[in-house]
Amino acid sequence: MSANKNVQKMEITPENKCSFCAGTKCCIYVTQEMETPRSISDFDHMLWQLAHQDMQAYKDEDGWFLIAMNKCQFLKAKGGCGIYETRPQICRDYSNDFCEYDEPADIHFEYYFKTYQELDEYCRKRFKKWDQRFEE
Ligand code: SF4
Ligand code: SF4
Repeated sequence: MSANKNVQKMEITPENKCSFCAGTKCCIYVTQEMETPRSISDFDHMLWQLAHQDMQAYKDEDGWFLIAMNKCQFLKAKGGCGIYETRPQICRDYSNDFCEYDEPADIHFEYYFKTYQELDEYCRKRFKKWDQRFEE
């Protein structure tokens, strides 16, 4: 008899799901909506934002967002919330019914700039005068 025959696959439920989520995907970044960038000046400003460490930007059906790829200081080393009883409302509102464990959020992004260089490359294609933007 195979030793594995007695090992039953554990069912993933809403109660235990987060314990299977390597890296606790929903607690490792912050997003902030921004106004839709349109002009060279708008994109130059976004470029400054992405020049900073761990800053990214994306656009999806809800608009444009900045992402700070910084994990929450209360995320425990083995997962779980260190301030569970007093965690902020946005954390309480987030449901794990269908979350980033089930599907990465970025598959719905129309644009996703992970680095300064990626955004700079996009801007160069979008604006013919991008490289001349500081000339009088
Ligand atoms: S809510 Fe989803 S993404 Fe967040 S820790 Fe739980 S399983 Fe992972
Ligand atoms: S407060 Fe807790 S639930 Fe909210 S992001 Fe931090 S670790 Fe996650």
